[in-house]
Parts: sequence; structure tokens; C-alpha cells
Amino acid sequence: MADHKPTGPSGKEPWIWMGGAICPAAEARISVTDHGFLYGDSIYETLRSYGGRPFALEEHLDRLLISASGIDLRIPMTRADLSAAIQVVIDERPGDSEAGVRLTVTRGVGPLGLDITVCENPEVILFGWPIAPGRHPMVESGVPVVVSSIRRNPSNALNPHIKSGNFLNNILAYREAKRHGAYEAILLTVDDHLAEATTSNVFWVKDGVVFSAEDQGILLGVTRRILFELLDENGIESRLGRYPVEDLYDADEAFLTSTLKGVLPIGKIDDERVGDGRPGPVTRRLVDLYEARTAQT
Ligand code: PLP
Repeated sequence: MADHKPTGPSGKEPWIWMGGAICPAAEARISVTDHGFLYGDSIYETLRSYGGRPFALEEHLDRLLISASGIDLRIPMTRADLSAAIQVVIDERPGDSEAGVRLTVTRGVGPLGLDITVCENPEVILFGWPIAPGRHPMVESGVPVVVSSIRRNPSNALNPHIKSGNFLNNILAYREAKRHGAYEAILLTVDDHLAEATTSNVFWVKDGVVFSAEDQGILLGVTRRILFELLDENGIESRLGRYPVEDLYDADEAFLTSTLKGVLPIGKIDDERVGDGRPGPVTRRLVDLYEARTAQT
């Protein structure tokens, strides 16, 4: 069998926490009968550190519990133990780097079939990888995105509020982005309203007002929620709703938010420049405000 070395999002080998301690990546194994592997029956959170501490830890743990209850999954660790394991993973980072942390809870081993009650031992696995401190490298240029032909799962199918390991919906959309040389893909809802991107929430600015999709039908991003706080605190008008894709094409500015990207300007949509193609004043201000918030970790 080939010796596959897992790599983290930064291209470096990640370190892994499993069974109560950090273990070498090459020794970390789950069973081929784990329902996470067989059916995508798992949930996860992606966090990152600032100053060696997990950012928005409680909000990520809250969302993990919501995801778990959405699929009737028992998390076999207390909240305090999960927090401690996250800190252990962060402390393992090399040198002056920060750490990205992915925490997965998988359904565990069971016979083939869809009965979740026969999987008695859910498993918690954490990945860590180094993140260079400082801004996302594409904040100044803005990133190109495409609008995907793939629609976001509707809430009455696999509810996007559940951050599950069943990620094919987003993978198919991301594949389109890659084919077009884009950085992210924007998904619409099944009734053609703007939803979110494959691993980020989407915002746009028109005449100084910041717009985003309503809560239903998207993942409730932790960064998105913090952004709403920043908008409120700084008197920047914002509106949530059901908006057609034309509003995005017509925007003065647009940006993505996520734990790993922070506030990331969008430079082009479907090869057309957003505004003059450079990050606009509202987006730049929000990049600064978000950066200041993360510095308070
Ligand atoms: N939307 C989706 C589908 C995601 O997978 C993610 C993050 O992975 C986000 C939005 C952004 O969420 P957060 O800000 O909590 O990282």
C-alpha cells in the first residue's frame, strides 16, 4: 500500500490528536467500517488560533453541539475536554506560527447499513497545521469567484446549519471554481437566491450598505456573526434577505468570510471585476476591524 502522507491546508504535514494525545500522522487510523467514512456521517469544526489561543472557541463549540444534535450524534467528550484537546493541538504548532485546528466527530464503527443506533463509539479526531501569522495573502488583490451551477442543499434536505462531513454538495461546486481558475464558488439556493460559498459566507456592498443572505439555507458562520457585531458597533448599515444573483453582479464591493480567510475581498465574479477590481473602502474597513477583533483573543 502506498504510504500516503496527509498534508494540511498549508501543504505541510498536519499533526493529529486521537485517543487522548497527539500521535504521529502515519499512525492515525480510523476503521473502514466507520460510518463517517462509509456515509459521510460525521460533523466537524474548523478553528484557528491567534496569539496561541483559540479564536471564538465557545461559538465553535456551540455550533458543534448544534451539529451533533442535528444528526443525533453523541460527542464522547465533555466541553471542557474538547477545549483542552484544542489547546493541546494549538500548543503543538512550530515556532512563531499560529495553528489551524479541525475537530471531527465521526459516528464510529458499525455494520453496513443506515442504522445509527448500532454505532456505539463515536470518535473525536483533531488535526492541527501551521498558519503563518498576519493577513491572508490575497487580501490586497481580492480573489476571483464564480457562481456555481450547483445549488446549495435546501434546509429540508441536509440542513446547511449542520456542519457535517457530508460535503459533496460543496465539493461539486468547488470543482467548478477550480475548472475556471477561481478561488471560490458561490452557491445559490434551489429557488435562485444567493446563499453562500463552499467554505465561506458571502457579503456584498451597494451604496454603503452591506448585504448578505438570510440565516436559512446557509451555514451560520462564526466569522459572519462576528462581522454583524462589527457592523452594528461601527454604525454600518446592513441587511439580510433573499437576494437574486444580479445584486451580487451589480455590487460596488463584495467579500467572503470564514475562520481561515477572515474577511477576504472578492476581486472578480465570473471574470467581471467587482467595482474597479480593487478591495473597496467598506471592505477594507471591515478587514481592519476584524483584524483588531482577532487581536483581542
Ligand atoms: N459556509 C460554509 C459552507 C463553510 O464550510 C464555512 C466554513 O468552513 C463557512 C461558511 C464559514 O464559517 P466560519 O466563519 O464559521 O468559518
